[in-house]
Amino acid sequence: MILSENCYKNVRFYSDKIEGEGVKTCDDAFSAFLFYDRIVMKGIGQKEGEQMKDQVQWDSFVHSCRNCERCELAKTRTNVVIGRGTNLSAPVMLVGEGPGQQEDLTGEAFVGRAGKQLDHLLNALMFDPEDYYICNIVKCRPPKNRVPLGEEAHACLPWLRYQVKYIKPAILVCLGSTALKYLVGDDVRITRIRGTWLDRPGFFRIMPTYHPSAVLRDPTKREEMFLDMKKVREYLQTLRQQP
Ligand code: SF4
Repeated sequence: MILSENCYKNVRFYSDKIEGEGVKTCDDAFSAFLFYDRIVMKGIGQKEGEQMKDQVQWDSFVHSCRNCERCELAKTRTNVVIGRGTNLSAPVMLVGEGPGQQEDLTGEAFVGRAGKQLDHLLNALMFDPEDYYICNIVKCRPPKNRVPLGEEAHACLPWLRYQVKYIKPAILVCLGSTALKYLVGDDVRITRIRGTWLDRPGFFRIMPTYHPSAVLRDPTKREEMFLDMKKVREYLQTLRQQP
């Protein structure tokens, strides 16, 4: 396994701390996980040790994802678009379809017109940027923004599963029919089910709503999407009031 630069720095930082105790520097992330127990044992602290372990794991995920060639979309992409968000423990995860042209060029999720539409809505509902993390079903742009093929989506889903497992959102928002299809099932239609909570007890609640690009194409959907996201905002508020 090749370490990303950031990951390597973390590993060096901690391994330097315990040098002299019989533990030398390590060359791969796997060894870093093995170091973890020893770090905690040497009194660096459970919390700090956990954070280091998390950081190493996330960096390793990002590095592997950026080099992914599991499907044909790898051949035409400019950048792998992993996700957007400052909080990797965000309570809300929004999942769209796939990167568009702007996202492919910049490597950032939801930065084109649809992304601005979504930001506008989230701001209007007073979501804090720390509240959410945004990503897609596929991480590479399908040519001409076509809908991802089944084999592309299935090849990419393990990356998304990792993100969900790592971030552990309380709420997962399906933005549009492609996200709904792969996260809930293909026997449901976004127009019928949007705005209705789907519960996954012990994991998260799912709120299906329109993709912001659908709202750009048909502005009459704007109010419905607003009302769906208002439910998300209200539920988030309820969660925060719980003891
Ligand atoms: S779309 Fe996903 S599975 Fe396909 S190459 Fe990109 S990151 Fe890999």
